[in-house]
Amino acid sequence: MRPVEASLPELSLPELRRYGRHLTLAEMGEEGQKRLKAGSVLVVGAGGLGSPLALYLAAAGVGTIGIVDFDAVEESNLQRQIAHGTASVGKSKLASITARLADLNPYVTVVPHEAYLHRTNALEIVRAYDVIVDGTDNFATRYLVNDACVLEGKPNVYGSILRFEGQASVFDARVGPCYRCLFPEPPPAGVIPNCAEAGVLGVLPGVIGSIQATEAIKLLIGAGDTLVGRLLLYDALEMRFREMRLRKDPRCPICGEQPSIRELQDYDALCGVKPHESAADQIGARELADRLARGEDMVLVDVREPHELAIAKFPNAVHVPLRTVPTRASELPRERLLVLTCHKGVRSQRALEILRELGFTRLKNLAGGIDSWSREVDSSVPRY
Ligand SMILES: [Zn+2]
Repeated sequence: MRPVEASLPELSLPELRRYGRHLTLAEMGEEGQKRLKAGSVLVVGAGGLGSPLALYLAAAGVGTIGIVDFDAVEESNLQRQIAHGTASVGKSKLASITARLADLNPYVTVVPHEAYLHRTNALEIVRAYDVIVDGTDNFATRYLVNDACVLEGKPNVYGSILRFEGQASVFDARVGPCYRCLFPEPPPAGVIPNCAEAGVLGVLPGVIGSIQATEAIKLLIGAGDTLVGRLLLYDALEMRFREMRLRKDPRCPICGEQPSIRELQDYDALCGVKPHESAADQIGARELADRLARGEDMVLVDVREPHELAIAKFPNAVHVPLRTVPTRASELPRERLLVLTCHKGVRSQRALEILRELGFTRLKNLAGGIDSWSREVDSSVPRY
């Protein structure tokens, strides 16, 4: 809802000076700038998409910018997550981006939410903002953000990126389709690679995040045509934009005529993040180190990609990238204990499930992957 003009905040002299190039735009003007000042946007994720998004929203003068993140800045983030700098490596992304935005524009309020967005907190956080922008790259959060926005009646500015391709849309179930109208259910875990596995061109989130920022600003000032009902597809290699019409699905499980989803769900389970991770399948880095030191017989199976091994590896691990596990399972000894590992323990969990389906019984997943090995056992193994 756009507030009536009388209730809009005044702009101070420094603000009028700062936003001069906006004020001369007929579609923005002083009223639009006041709407930005009165407006609030929640940015979910302070990573690749969240960086340009938050920077442009702050620069534009969006009065309140909430940011949800709980990660720390890693060196490998800096190739694309331009809100962070080398001095912030190892520090909280939220602290890093908050400091950057405060320097960029002291006239906006940044509200840090140091949290993992979850069904227990999502509705309350989403409710406090006018526009929600999804800058995450995992299905659990994507479905959670979608459902929370539908239930709270908020516009959800969507973006996603992989390799050289990106997508953007605006989902607003009040006037158009939602994400579930396109994809009612998440894909099985592990089927669609994430950016860590498949790679992403560093500038790609800059393009898609800037499109998301544009849409958020248009929603706040009520100007132009938004991406409601349209999916914008961008191919950086071909340098081509395409567009797909999206229709609201009357059978959509959350925004359709007879919705089956009326409250938030367990998105980790829905997206296969944790449902099969029984404690008995897991082995911690310390325990693994102890058992190796005792000379226990086992085979370490590393399911990461070759370029990741070049950064950090276990000296005696067998290397079977996740995508080749089904075809190369016969190379693995069934009678010996197989300890599966990857970067952070997610892909190796998927490998464990694949091997179990193939009849392997002696399986463990290294919880937290080589990253936890580096943190807990051997700090000479580089983290990335
Ligand atoms: Zn829908």
